Amino acid sequence: MTAPKRAPGGFPVVGIIGGGQLARMCQPAAENLSITLSVLAESPDAAAALVIPSAPVGSHLDVDEVLAFARDCDVVTFDHEHVPAPVLHALVEAGVPVHPKPEALVYAQDKLAMRERLTELGIPCPAWAQVHDTVELAAFGDLHGWPVVLKTPRGGYDGKGVRVVDSATEAQDWFDRGEPLLAEAKVPFTRELAVLAARSPSGQAAVWPVVQTVQTDGICTEVLAPAPGLDPDLQAQIAQAALRLAGELDITGVFAVEVFEVPGVAGGPPSYVVNELAMRPHNSGHWTMDGSVTSQFEQHLRAVLDLPLGEVAPRAPWTVMGNVLGGADEELYSTYRHLLARDPGLKVHLYGKAVRPGRKIGHVNVYGDDLDQLRARAQHAADYLEGTVRQ
Ligand code: ADP
Repeated sequence: MTAPKRAPGGFPVVGIIGGGQLARMCQPAAENLSITLSVLAESPDAAAALVIPSAPVGSHLDVDEVLAFARDCDVVTFDHEHVPAPVLHALVEAGVPVHPKPEALVYAQDKLAMRERLTELGIPCPAWAQVHDTVELAAFGDLHGWPVVLKTPRGGYDGKGVRVVDSATEAQDWFDRGEPLLAEAKVPFTRELAVLAARSPSGQAAVWPVVQTVQTDGICTEVLAPAPGLDPDLQAQIAQAALRLAGELDITGVFAVEVFEVPGVAGGPPSYVVNELAMRPHNSGHWTMDGSVTSQFEQHLRAVLDLPLGEVAPRAPWTVMGNVLGGADEELYSTYRHLLARDPGLKVHLYGKAVRPGRKIGHVNVYGDDLDQLRARAQHAADYLEGTVRQ
């Protein structure tokens, strides 16, 4: 592996394991901070490898490849949460500064470990249990009510690994795999929210405003920042929970806490329960690229390097992010050109990925004063790029 070229003046190299879109979106921030990135990419045409000069190809599952990659880096962080614990511990044992640390990352890798720890800390969660078979699931459902939300503890994303079941026998095929599952009560939430925060190794922390995330078929399609009409007390409680978790779990870097807003009982104030944690820049934070003084990608680099954190104030009253999914047409550039002409205030971020139907290939951001208008513009842009509207 050739060593990445450092900027003069003693500026560091940040290594990112995984060459996906999150690593790619760190590059503009790294340039402005004078920091060099190096990514361990899955392939030469991985999203990040197209824009980051140092992108050796290697596997995040191979200890030797990961250690060789880390040798040229001052700190190592992640594009995704799938690096196995033995590889993470080998990095730590080799003296590589790793952020987030394996002890924190486990709570984003394993939903059972996350539920256990959050419950210990008294952070509100849905009723839950670890279940090994249909008998245990039936007992859980009978106690907390059907349907039950059943989850595979590891490896889920975009709703894969989550299933709503009306009876225990329905889940027999999942139990046949021989792994314990996470059973949760189905929360009657009014909407899904997320809070994004960052913490540095020396303990400085910053929290962005709580946002609303809108999911379609298990995929986040829209983010409204800040969450419209959110009760100020609930905003404060959720932000407080994120800060507390950051300290208790010793999280370093940017992280997101996904929560459900739960209606108040008998006219009382609304409350929340935590759905899950992500220990990296997150889809719910893409709005910060254009809508916040400091983007989540810049903040992540600052945090993992233990630099002072940046200001997290929004640039406008509202920012709307729309995820762009691939459509049937592989050719994107002509559509893209038309879109830029139609809406000069629109910010389009594409990830350099081949178009496949339903695949997240980018997102758009718009910011300003009129939330309804911003939503319409973001929605139109995403639909137009996907090819579901033609004008
Ligand atoms: P993933 O890891 O795939 O993102 P999540 O745990 O976030 O999976 O679940 C995906 C979606 O399923 C959530 O966004 C939410 O809409 C729904 N969901 C998950 N858990 C519950 C629950 N306990 N009650 C109600 N809905 C849930």
